[in-house]
Amino acid sequence: MTTIRDNLQSVSTRIDVACAAAGRAPGSVRLLAVSKTFGPDAVREAHAAGQRAFGENYIQEAVEKMAALDGLDAEWHCIGPVQSNKTRLVATHFDWVHSVDRVKVAQRLSEQRPNGLPPLQVCLQVNMDAGPNKAGVEPAQAADLARAVALLPRLKLRGLMSIPEPASDPAAQLAVHRQTRALFDALRAAGLEMDTLSMGMTADLEAAIHAGSTMVRVGTAIFGSRARPAAS
Ligand SMILES: *Cc1c(COP(=O)(O)O)cnc(C)c1O
Repeated sequence: MTTIRDNLQSVSTRIDVACAAAGRAPGSVRLLAVSKTFGPDAVREAHAAGQRAFGENYIQEAVEKMAALDGLDAEWHCIGPVQSNKTRLVATHFDWVHSVDRVKVAQRLSEQRPNGLPPLQVCLQVNMDAGPNKAGVEPAQAADLARAVALLPRLKLRGLMSIPEPASDPAAQLAVHRQTRALFDALRAAGLEMDTLSMGMTADLEAAIHAGSTMVRVGTAIFGSRARPAAS
């Protein structure tokens, strides 16, 4: 039986191989372990193997997990949809949020971020391939949203996040990731300060790294398949 520790080792090897293949520096891609639907024990096991950054989709579930893991030195990333009535929980409990796609949600997160905490680290979710999963800002609106977020005092704009529709064809995966990368480059060229491109999951992390991802979000390859579907 493979353990979470073995799986983390295999994923980090996949990342290293993909970096080498793309001519990128080893260590230029961070691994976010997506622990949604898995309990506190799974997080503890990954933590014991050295993993520190964890991604969660379901806010209520995440907050309960954090309470159960009280005191664990981990960095929590919200990667699921953020409704207006959940912003306070996100602002209070998370270190990062990757799924900001509206100014209104960003404003609430900034207003509700407790003063004793560092700024909330923010990626804008971009609806790059206009998939049936309609979450995310349209690419043409991303610059306006980025400028608005950059001005909010309790948020720190870090970059873009995308969740392309699943494609088994590596060329198709690469094409969408390259579009996200191009948008990222364009926003930076327009003067927006960003250092994070959050893209790539279990099935497409190689393509994402090839296109320039700096943070891959991996669940299944670390924790196994989920009993619940990934949609929220
Ligand atoms: C579930 C999820 C992941 C992880 O997906 P896997 O295919 O299990 O690696 C990554 N990002 C987001 C936004 C997710 O919802």
